[in-house]
Amino acid sequence: MAEPETNKTAKAGERPGPGRFICVDCGQEVRIDSTDQDLVKCPTCACEMYNCFPMTHIRPDIKTPEDVLNPPKRKTE
Ligand SMILES: [Zn+2]
Repeated sequence: MAEPETNKTAKAGERPGPGRFICVDCGQEVRIDSTDQDLVKCPTCACEMYNCFPMTHIRPDIKTPEDVLNPPKRKTE
């Protein structure tokens, strides 16, 4: 059984898919919106390791893979 919300990391150069990635070193947040976008080194400290926070943490209205590809319109910002 995996714990999807904890202890998950991604390295620069990977394509972890949409989500938020928090630099383990300085806390800088990098966002990825696309499944084919590479995770880049931290823009602040060039660290290559991030803690992962899946897309569902960004957009509570996205619950399925189809929603990720065709996000519903935001009601509020
Ligand atoms: Zn950093």
